Amino acid sequence: MRQLLVVGNWKMNGSRASINSLLDDLLSAPAVAGTEVAVCPTYVHLPQVLELCASSAIAVGAQDCSHMQSGAYTGEVAAVMLSEMGCRWVILGHSERRQYHAESDALVAAKVAVAVEAGLQPIVCVGETREQREAGEAQSVVSAQLQGALKGQVNLDSLVVAYEPVWAIGTGLTATPQQAQDMHECIRGCLEGIEGIDAQATRLLYGGSVKADNAAQLFAQPDIDGALVGGAALKAADFKSIIAAA
Ligand code: PEP
Repeated sequence: MRQLLVVGNWKMNGSRASINSLLDDLLSAPAVAGTEVAVCPTYVHLPQVLELCASSAIAVGAQDCSHMQSGAYTGEVAAVMLSEMGCRWVILGHSERRQYHAESDALVAAKVAVAVEAGLQPIVCVGETREQREAGEAQSVVSAQLQGALKGQVNLDSLVVAYEPVWAIGTGLTATPQQAQDMHECIRGCLEGIEGIDAQATRLLYGGSVKADNAAQLFAQPDIDGALVGGAALKAADFKSIIAAA
């Protein structure tokens, strides 16, 4: 039985004041039995969020990490630094990293390796663009991203994969529950073929304009094990409704 997981990706948003108020609201809500919840703020907000969430059921993650262990990599943050602070999760290969920072599958693979070694649980993002979907290439693109990021990794027991169609991120367009389920089934099949992964135990999240009013239908699909939530994770009421739908 896979436990549902709802992760908020706050992206480059928030101030000390807005985060205090968001978490005040989220932490006052009772935990939903059987659903794991995590939030991923910017690096600079991690200490504040870790402190506020310390004795709660909300886990904390980062939105990225360096592909290197340490050294002369100005501006980068090492996975081991994040785990030492108390982070449990790290989002890797988000489409905004691939788009604005030209991250390749090989770079994502290197990040997965250092993250796992540091004891972080990686949430590896994959997804096709609108053009790729219209060209009938969605499944082959996603399979190639999975192979590129995961093949040959040593320990993927804690792996989570997030399917985030690029055309659905921040656009208000959501994959239909059937489109999402079809891709999740394809992803699970692809994971079956990668050595060292227990595909049936691996949680697959859907991401892309998940909202209070579409979450329940998505979570009802057999291969959707939760959500990676962007915009709606910044509003306590919306995020709480998505958690409740899980
Ligand atoms: C995301 O960026 O991970 C995401 C899913 O964003 P949104 O929910 O805003 O589409």
